[in-house]
Amino acid sequence: MKFEIPPLPYEKNALAPHISPDTLETHYEKHHKGYLAKLEKQIAGKPEAEKSLEDLIRSSDGKVYNFAAQVWNHTFYWRSMHPDGGGKPEGELLAKIEQAFGSFDDFKQAFAEAATGEFGSGWAWLVVDQNDRLRVRSSSDAENPLGTSQKPLLTIDVWEHAYYLDYRNERAKYVDGVIEHLLNWDFARQNLET
Ligand code: FE
Repeated sequence: MKFEIPPLPYEKNALAPHISPDTLETHYEKHHKGYLAKLEKQIAGKPEAEKSLEDLIRSSDGKVYNFAAQVWNHTFYWRSMHPDGGGKPEGELLAKIEQAFGSFDDFKQAFAEAATGEFGSGWAWLVVDQNDRLRVRSSSDAENPLGTSQKPLLTIDVWEHAYYLDYRNERAKYVDGVIEHLLNWDFARQNLET
């Protein structure tokens, strides 16, 4: 299996002013593609090279897990945002959010706390659990929910490389910009339905 990184689903200036073209250029071209290059180097000529990316994540650990998960996480992250994103979802998704968190504002607060509260590098996730209930959680480094009973709906990258050029050390401002203006609720709904 040849692993591929899909093109960014929007132009590199499309998420400004919340995420700058400079950040997207570095984050996508250097970090995301860099993880793929490191993954391919790790598994070249080995049986792992024949697996799908998802299978590799579920069946590996150490460097291979970290690089594979970072490739997957970033592809999911790009799709978790949209230039016309933000706002409030509708229908079943909104009902599930209100059921789980009380209100949409309470959800936004919980998601922001998961994203800002992760101590080091990591990810914040909106997931649906095995009881069909929505939850927010964070993960450390490359860890993702694949292989657990939680299905991811949206993610926010909270590694410093995701926001340092635009916000310096102010992770909370970046997280607020993503939640208020960029979250792709159509993508979340598609993930919920599949
Ligand atoms: Fe990243």
